[in-house]
Amino acid sequence: MTGTHDTSTGTGVRTGRGTTPGDGGSTRPVLVRGVRPLGGDATDLLLADGIVAETGRGMTADGALVVDADGLVALPGLVDLHTHLREPGREDAETVESGSRAAALGGFTAVHAMANTDPVADTAGVVEQVWRMGRRTGLVDVRPVGAVTVGLRGEQLAELGAMADSAAAVRVFSDDGLCVSDAVLMRRALEYVKAFDGVVAQHSQEPRLTEAAQMHEGELSAVLGLRGWPAAAEEAIIARDVLIAGHVDSHLHVCHVSTAGSVEIIRWAKSRGVRVTAEVTPHHLLLTHEEVASFDPVFKVNPPLRTPEDVAAVREALADGTIDVVATDHAPHPAEDKDCEWDAAAAGTTGLETALSVVQQVMVETGLLDWAGVAERMSVRPAGIGRVAGHGRPIAAGEPANLVLVDPAARWRVDPGALATWGCNTAFQGSTLPGRVVATFLRGRPTFVAPRLADTPLGSAAAVHAASRPEAAQEVTA
Ligand SMILES: [Zn+2]
Repeated sequence: MTGTHDTSTGTGVRTGRGTTPGDGGSTRPVLVRGVRPLGGDATDLLLADGIVAETGRGMTADGALVVDADGLVALPGLVDLHTHLREPGREDAETVESGSRAAALGGFTAVHAMANTDPVADTAGVVEQVWRMGRRTGLVDVRPVGAVTVGLRGEQLAELGAMADSAAAVRVFSDDGLCVSDAVLMRRALEYVKAFDGVVAQHSQEPRLTEAAQMHEGELSAVLGLRGWPAAAEEAIIARDVLIAGHVDSHLHVCHVSTAGSVEIIRWAKSRGVRVTAEVTPHHLLLTHEEVASFDPVFKVNPPLRTPEDVAAVREALADGTIDVVATDHAPHPAEDKDCEWDAAAAGTTGLETALSVVQQVMVETGLLDWAGVAERMSVRPAGIGRVAGHGRPIAAGEPANLVLVDPAARWRVDPGALATWGCNTAFQGSTLPGRVVATFLRGRPTFVAPRLADTPLGSAAAVHAASRPEAAQEVTA
């Protein structure tokens, strides 16, 4: 199996690693040979006309691009419920295009773009703008999230119905970054979205309990002299919201669950029939508050990294289904917002390109999940929660060819400069992670092809467009 820092040269311009074709990319049929769908028995997959046209062993197809996928696992294209693409307004941090490229490199075929942009995605006009930029880029299906309240100000409901009826067909609404802390507004939003089968995704953070908070509140925050962000500030909002969601019989989605107490509340609510779903981030699955002792702002995230007991609880909850999905909370920032003192640094880590590897490490290699379980939590369930048609489907004849091929035997070291995201901030920098995406297909078209395939017909056929950021010149050196 080829190493993942393969730097062989092939045709086309390179971004951080591998190539991403533009709209002119290949639409020729692709024959994937000997791949293991969901980690099961090896088979061949013929991708043609945007669908999985045929499966079975020993297939041949005239004119098809052949991929030798011996040892690779095929998963349905990953779906992220929680991505910050930053455009419009913070194009210095990320754009729809750069974030889409990062998504394709990470194995995603659909992402939900959070609403805390500038202007805020709180009108039909803004969500349609984001949706159109996603379509134009064409590397991943961009599903805009609509804001719950006007300007994320928490005072007045945004035009949820107009966003739902727009071309962007918004179904997920969130003020993420901020909590909808007014219980009456939260109730109204939950009631309103029922009309179009929507979901309200809450960033659960009691604002008064977390003023100026810098890290998880506990013994370590006292030792380090940093203002604490207590677990109770998350749990209090989740407890309130599951009661409201149950009362009005609407769908609440809890963003980035980080504490053992939150898991207990969600487990209780589900046992009572409340329509609640929940996500956990890769960083909350892997890292603890002990990282904060380094004072390296890459570890400053919101909600904060928690205790080892909390990490064990969220892993167990993801395994048993109490937490439904993994969502990245991909939050790119430019260097100046992170290369500063801890207190002044922006919160967040990038995540699209590392999510699958982290999940392989903490869930698959520990025996907590098999690949079918990973597919369920990173594709099937998020597509269901986000109401994303055509994604999270079985790998079977007649289904849309939204697929990712993964090399589970690969190991790679996370180098922030070699990632496609413009964000410089990854909490996993310097870590060696298992598993690597080898190719991603959106409706049968390759949206990412790893360097190891660059010299194959698939790599050659991928029409490549260069990264548009100024530093791209330095990156075309692989
Ligand atoms: Zn959030």
